[in-house]
Amino acid sequence: GSISVAELAEKLNKKTNEIIKKLMFSGVMATKNQDLDEDALELICSEFGVEVEQEIEIDKADLATYIDEDDPNKLEERPPVVTIMGHVDHGKTTLLDSIRHTKVTAGEAGGITQHIGAYQVRENDKKVTFLDTPGHAAFTSMRSRGAQVTDIAILVVAADDGVMPQTIEAINHAKAAEVPIIIAVNKMDKEGANPDRVMQELTEYELIPEDWGGDTIFVQLSAIKREGIDDLLEMILLVAEVEELKANADRRANGTVIEAQLDKGRGPVASLLVQNGTLKVGDPIVVGNTFGRVRAMVNDLGKRINSAGPSTPIEITGLNDVPLAGDQFVVFKDEKQARQIGEMRQEKQLEEKRGTQSRVSLDDLFEQIKQGEIKDINVIIKADVHGSVEALAASLQKIDVEGVKVNIIHTGVGAIKESDIILASASNAVVIGFNVRPDNNAKKAAESEKVDIRLHRVIYKAIEEVEAAMKGMLDPEF
Ligand code: GDP
Repeated sequence: GSISVAELAEKLNKKTNEIIKKLMFSGVMATKNQDLDEDALELICSEFGVEVEQEIEIDKADLATYIDEDDPNKLEERPPVVTIMGHVDHGKTTLLDSIRHTKVTAGEAGGITQHIGAYQVRENDKKVTFLDTPGHAAFTSMRSRGAQVTDIAILVVAADDGVMPQTIEAINHAKAAEVPIIIAVNKMDKEGANPDRVMQELTEYELIPEDWGGDTIFVQLSAIKREGIDDLLEMILLVAEVEELKANADRRANGTVIEAQLDKGRGPVASLLVQNGTLKVGDPIVVGNTFGRVRAMVNDLGKRINSAGPSTPIEITGLNDVPLAGDQFVVFKDEKQARQIGEMRQEKQLEEKRGTQSRVSLDDLFEQIKQGEIKDINVIIKADVHGSVEALAASLQKIDVEGVKVNIIHTGVGAIKESDIILASASNAVVIGFNVRPDNNAKKAAESEKVDIRLHRVIYKAIEEVEAAMKGMLDPEF
């Protein structure tokens, strides 16, 4: 945000005139209500010996603000990115495997397919990218993180089973994302295959075949026999053409994390889908709340490559930490900027984490229950004898407060240890000690992790206390 001379004066605890004078001596004419530009701000702050700390709001969408707009003249066709959805057991995984086998292994030389969360195939000299995690869970979790990666959804419906609950869910998800749907009527090789029934059932969801006056594409196939795969790919390309999917290969890349993990030997490894631009080895990059330089890049055939254009899935190393699926990535001009922005985002994330740690207190439990932030109270029980643990656990689980339940995540006999606190902190739990105390390390850990420890000598008091917290009647003076 911007700051005016008067606002800055107030922040620095100086007189407005003093600031104006300083500015004047440096050749900047400014009035009281004038907004200072970055240079002037730097200048004044350095004069007064303070550092400028820019407040930049960081959220998912924010990385996108670092992406320059595209020159429309540079936009070119790009491959579609496809997600396969449908009811369990209708053949999503089999279809993904068939497509990959028929199209990839045959053509490309020396490739050993490698699972990087997505793969690309060729059809009539055009490419199609498939996300390798079938089902709408992945689709939706990515979307909830602000990433829209899918251009086309393939809805697999088994011809012998018809529309099922998850078929409908998948339709709803695709529609919510405004992604065009192609119906793959699968298992056509089976005895009871009845594609007409599938078409009939889908009319209820406004998915009407062209023959019946609608505009939904239906492809009949057998994933297991690898029949109809080419038809499906051709239809995908047809829909892609209508959608006019475009990107500019001649720019710094941006895109989305498909999956990421920590590799023992290679460190953080992230599968990325390049959505615009071209990603190159050596690029300074910010990925979610992580950053680094693209050290090595591998494609879906396990081949090392140096650059990847729009709609290409690749796996990279070189990040300082493991990002999350659905995170956005952006390439920056220089490493310094990438580091700066990456570190800022990391700090912000840590702050947020710290903020949430105060959650682990019985006192404000009720607030959070009320606000719908939590539905369960996680509890760790430590007691002097096994019988007390059992008794306390059983009674706590019996507490009946509407909509809220007690979750016992760990119990044990003996003093409250540091490990109990770590567990409590990681799972937002309260630690209840019955006739036991925390040892010194546990005390220290509880303080730094802000974990609430409740000590009791009478079972019913412990129960009363938890119940009171659940009902919002806990005496804060307790
Ligand atoms: P997903 O849960 O949707 O990923 O379904 P899967 O791909 O795991 O397939 C479920 C079952 O259906 C497996 O036993 C597959 O072998 C079988 N299957 C998948 N496609 C076909 C097909 O085209 N024909 C027949 N007969 N069986 C299939």
